Amino acid sequence: MKANFLAFVLCLLQLPAFTQETGRQTEHLFIITLDGFRWQELFGGAVDSMMNDLEFSRDTAALQNLFAAPTPEERREKLMPFFWNTIARQGQLYGNRWVGNKANCTNIFWFSYPGYNEILTGYSDPDIRSNDKVPNANVTVLEWFNQQPGFEGRVAAFGSWDVFPYIINEERSGVPVNAGFETASGEDLTQKELFLNELQPQVPSPWSSVRLDAFTHGYAMEYLKKYHPRVLYISYGETDDFAHDGRYDHYLMSARQTDRFLEELWTFAQSDPVYRGKTTFLITTDHGRGESPKAQWKGHGKTYIGSNAIWMAVIGPDTPALGEVKTEMQLWQNQVAKTGAAFLGLDYKSRKEEVGKVITSMMK
Ligand SMILES: [Zn+2]
Repeated sequence: MKANFLAFVLCLLQLPAFTQETGRQTEHLFIITLDGFRWQELFGGAVDSMMNDLEFSRDTAALQNLFAAPTPEERREKLMPFFWNTIARQGQLYGNRWVGNKANCTNIFWFSYPGYNEILTGYSDPDIRSNDKVPNANVTVLEWFNQQPGFEGRVAAFGSWDVFPYIINEERSGVPVNAGFETASGEDLTQKELFLNELQPQVPSPWSSVRLDAFTHGYAMEYLKKYHPRVLYISYGETDDFAHDGRYDHYLMSARQTDRFLEELWTFAQSDPVYRGKTTFLITTDHGRGESPKAQWKGHGKTYIGSNAIWMAVIGPDTPALGEVKTEMQLWQNQVAKTGAAFLGLDYKSRKEEVGKVITSMMK
């Protein structure tokens, strides 16, 4: 705790020089992902035929009440109010293919480990072709940040899926990863962390390898308040797993709740003296899902057409308020890592592969 506090004070002292050097305001970066959440729902809201089909949804009247509306603009705002009331006004959204604005994976697999590797390293790796718990041979941008002056020990990751300690290679990288069913550990646990530690084993997760996002979010929030990391990665997982289960109702409720979590993170960041006006959120997904709702929505991967289509959103002090970007363009998943580093005035490179370019329209 003392070492952390010292690092925190030193960091505050270093910041003015850092900001002058880069000319940008961003001093803190949050990379956030919503596993397998489709661009179709982000830009168009809930799909009626799925809400009304008892195979995919149960209380269809309740769902209609929550998410139905006459236009796509109203529907998406009902589903993701933080995205459409705050990010769309103060930040940017990419990936609405209905207007020709595209974002895609470069990897050919279109499932999680290859996607997270691409987001976090800046390149796709043809050797990563399964979701197995194999320590990543590649160095992620999180590990790289953790080696940069002023960032050491100030990078952390939280995920709902228990493969993240391997994707980020927690052991080699030194980046603490709280994922799967891990609890908070340490000597200075807050009341809320103690409560989450007690509650997590009492609330059964529907899945064996993924916990409910409320735990991931709760642990991340407590860590944020205590340690003020400069780079934070959070991976929410429910959207993908509820989709695999064929539960469109749960998928929608989960998306709605994740939107609330992001709003809570943003509101906290804007109220906290360390983060206020100095923090950029870069938000995306590891892969899409099948385009055809009833036939292919549940799955993703090579045989699911369209599941390489992703989206991106960004908000922060250096991002022009373009809102929903409607120009025809093509973004790639491998651009996230270098773009995130650029916000912090750093030029991220990998020794192994050429990484995707900075998305220059995201910053002034
Ligand atoms: Zn999946």
